[in-house]
Amino acid sequence: MKPGNPSLHSKLPDVGTTIFTVMSQLAADCGAINLSQGYPDFDAPAGLLDRVTHHLRTGHNQYAPMAGLPELREAVASKLAKVYEREADPDTEITVTSGATEALYSAIEAFVHPGDEVIVFDPAYDSYDPAIRLAGGIPVHVPLTNINFALDFDALAAAITPQTRMLVLNTPHNPTGAVVPAADMRRLAELIRDTNILLLGDEVYEHMVFDGERHESLLRYPELADRSLAVFSFGKTYHATGWKIGYVVATPALTAEFRRVHQFVQFCVATPLQYALADFLASDPQHYLDLPAFYQRKRDRFAALLEPSRFELQPSAGTYFQLADYAEITDEPDTDFARRLTREHGVACIPVSVFFARPPAEHRPLRFCFAKDEATLERAAEILCKI
Ligand code: PMP
Ligand code: GLN
Repeated sequence: MKPGNPSLHSKLPDVGTTIFTVMSQLAADCGAINLSQGYPDFDAPAGLLDRVTHHLRTGHNQYAPMAGLPELREAVASKLAKVYEREADPDTEITVTSGATEALYSAIEAFVHPGDEVIVFDPAYDSYDPAIRLAGGIPVHVPLTNINFALDFDALAAAITPQTRMLVLNTPHNPTGAVVPAADMRRLAELIRDTNILLLGDEVYEHMVFDGERHESLLRYPELADRSLAVFSFGKTYHATGWKIGYVVATPALTAEFRRVHQFVQFCVATPLQYALADFLASDPQHYLDLPAFYQRKRDRFAALLEPSRFELQPSAGTYFQLADYAEITDEPDTDFARRLTREHGVACIPVSVFFARPPAEHRPLRFCFAKDEATLERAAEILCKI
């Protein structure tokens, strides 16, 4: 660099604007129905919104404690005990974060040293790879299997080296809707038993698991939980993605290290939201217990509406996303077709190839978000069925 001429010298020169921003902006510009970026078009529960208003009006507007409001951490601890049989100490094992995004970023920053390898499964949520590289780590992309996007244990075993520091496990999985079954969690435990690999669990869709299956949290498996940071998001569970509030659960030693970074990335999270969530978690546990059935109905409705279309739907075992293959319609690349669908037909979705380090040559599906009101799903399906 020449003195007196500071150049940008990008740390992420190959990274553009995230696909979620790109497609939502295109949808807005075209007046398209937005089934791209994942968020509900219905509101958070009225009882929860009332609690936010209450706390805004009763003076809960200054900094919260760095680790999170004690009342909220206690409410989370009792939920974890009930749902995952994991007794977490709210003081030393739970930290409230600015969404799952901050939790993932701070966790990677806290534990990944320059030169460390971090395994991610492709297609991978788009924030992992840049966060790993910003920490000086080396992302190692291991493809999921072609069949139902299951973990490929042969590929995983081959990817593990003495430099592997961390493995990011996202279940239920965005963008595919796959969920990791219990047998695979046990197999994973066996595979990494004699290593020092940390697990970063992205479990933001914990309450969107369908067909009577249960969410296999890392927290259910003591052997795995001992080396895990498990990340959750209130935004997903309470239909309030714009609140950007989540939490991370980890052993006291891992939590202490996590907080060393969290305190300087975010320090603390919006106080009235924490009070409101603490109240609502305690008063209305039924909300999250009803969520699987609530979203399963939407998944099934969207699938039924698309039955007559030329899209071929792939199974969605969890999340609020539906993959649809479009091979019968066109052979253009998914990034082109997704844009054309938005501009010419008025329905926006997400091309899945962008989540691969090396996109597979064969046809790639599109991702549609079905966290929408009945009327929105009907309008979108009517258009999609004519294509
Ligand atoms: N991980 C995955 C897999 C997600 O889909 C999302 C949704 N944005 C996040 C992390 C981030 O969650 P949050 O909005 O709470 O930051
Ligand atoms: N998680 C959301 C999705 O997958 C988007 C989050 C974001 O826009 N960063 O669509």
